[in-house]
Amino acid sequence: MYSKFKFPGIAFLIVIAILIPVHTQVSRPMLMLERLVPGYGWIEIILLGFYAGFIVFKMLNSGNTARWRLRIWGIFSVVFFGQLIIGLSGLEVFLMTGTLHFPIPAVILAGPVYRLEIGFMPILFLSTLILSGPAWCAQLCYFGALDGLASAKNKKPKTLYYKKKIRWTILFVVILIAMLLRLFQAGPVLVIILTAAFGIGGLSVILFRSRKKGLMSHCTEYCPVGVIVSYLKFVNPFRVVIQSDCTHCQLCFSHCPYDALSPDDLMKGRPGITCTYCGDCMQSCKKDLIQYKLFNVKPVLAKKIWFVLTVSLHAVFLGLARI
Ligand code: SF4
Ligand code: SF4
Repeated sequence: MYSKFKFPGIAFLIVIAILIPVHTQVSRPMLMLERLVPGYGWIEIILLGFYAGFIVFKMLNSGNTARWRLRIWGIFSVVFFGQLIIGLSGLEVFLMTGTLHFPIPAVILAGPVYRLEIGFMPILFLSTLILSGPAWCAQLCYFGALDGLASAKNKKPKTLYYKKKIRWTILFVVILIAMLLRLFQAGPVLVIILTAAFGIGGLSVILFRSRKKGLMSHCTEYCPVGVIVSYLKFVNPFRVVIQSDCTHCQLCFSHCPYDALSPDDLMKGRPGITCTYCGDCMQSCKKDLIQYKLFNVKPVLAKKIWFVLTVSLHAVFLGLARI
């Protein structure tokens, strides 16, 4: 009984430990309750701690981590975009600083190139990569949740044949355009038009391709941040591996929303490069052969540590992330 609450309890403490310094050291209130009712930020910290503990409990004990992951990712996205819409309608208290930028992940890469300065978002993004590898693209990105929800509509995924060919090209083109805009000192109107066009392109991929394919086409074929996550995730020590006793039954294939499982990947004993360690495939393996790996830690413990870490970060993002 005690062990069921141990890891939720750790998640609770992590969230509290991160949010207390943010609450006490940053001059402008970061927590929404504190902004709305001064003094109530402490209550929000406790609530977010309990929320993280509850989600870890559910993910470790419900037998359906995939459903819970998608659910909390969706909640985060709704809260994030909800605050943006309310903020834009005049209630500036719902905005982070009042300085607006487009809520699409590509801006995390293109923005610093265009402005020639590293802002808050790239630092947050890189810190998250170090702390939790690819979890950014599994439950922390406000935009990826839309792709996750769209792809979940089709339960019979089809392979994404183009992902390897176009994702690097899109990343290259986005960086090149940001450099050219900087070089020619392009004004805000052109920058806004191009950014909006890219965002609309992404939404179209989500609405038409991801829904049709039953796979996260936006995140694995279109988003330039997804490419960076795919390769830089290895700075984090967690891995997902497929044990050698795999019978190649392929039952797990249809459970991967990131198109990261193929016969070739099974042979290699690890998912493809687009794997975000989301864990959705793990319960589909009757022999439990797809596992988290962290140094020499036992796979079951590695999984618990992974969920504690990523859910705690999710709860912190839920409390702090806004534009
Ligand atoms: S690939 Fe892009 S949109 Fe998808 S989750 Fe990652 S950063 Fe977000
Ligand atoms: S292989 Fe498994 S852990 Fe990796 S992205 Fe696919 S479902 Fe998630």
